[in-house]
Amino acid sequence: MSTRQFFVGGNWKLNPTSVGKAKELVEVLNKAELDPNTEVVISPPSLYLIPVRDAVSNKQITISAQNAYYKENGAFTGEISSSQIKEAGIPYVILGHSERRTIFHETNEVVALKTRAALDAGLKVILCIGETLVQREGGETTKVCEGQLSAVVKQTKPEDWSNIVIAYEPVWAIGTGKVATTAQAQETHVDVRAYLSTAVSTTVASETRVIYGGSVNSGNAKDLAGQQDIDGFLVGGASLKPEFVDIINARK
Ligand code: PEP
Repeated sequence: MSTRQFFVGGNWKLNPTSVGKAKELVEVLNKAELDPNTEVVISPPSLYLIPVRDAVSNKQITISAQNAYYKENGAFTGEISSSQIKEAGIPYVILGHSERRTIFHETNEVVALKTRAALDAGLKVILCIGETLVQREGGETTKVCEGQLSAVVKQTKPEDWSNIVIAYEPVWAIGTGKVATTAQAQETHVDVRAYLSTAVSTTVASETRVIYGGSVNSGNAKDLAGQQDIDGFLVGGASLKPEFVDIINARK
């Protein structure tokens, strides 16, 4: 097993429907026995970032925003900036989630600009990449992931990568109940590392955490977590359920 710290993120997306319910989710985690070797990050909607930050009593758990614009301030109605997130004491931001890329038309270049701005503001980035079903069936998985990564490589220096966690999330596996096989996930993670090795450095390739996302649950987490190049998970649906604790403890 590698020396990279196991990382489990919970992407709550546009859930739950009240701040009271958000605090109940935090309470489950506060009371749970979590593997002390796992870094745990939960990502509530932006309005709940501060109440959730305040409700977390377990110091092992930190918070992530789900998005941030690349400008610091100005006439950008509806957006929040990385510096505002940082000032609120939130250490992470998820960028490039497939729902942002598809529903909100974020290009590789926009995701890369957001990554640059987040790093400049002192945030750590959970950078999502991944292919659609058509792209996988067309044999384009590696090309698509490399294209998404190369836009970020152009905006970063090798030292930035210690503040980036890559989340490989095949779009066809997100929220669909279709999980990539351990072999499919491991193979793509190896490809991601191979790309980082050529495009950035061998050190960045071996030290950057590459986590998997796409219908992870308590039933499949252990097998996936046993793969050499899978350094954790980004979890959507199951992060809203008590089984999230089992996923955090997948390597226990
Ligand atoms: C996600 O939204 O990042 C995700 C992986 O969702 P799910 O676990 O529900 O597939």
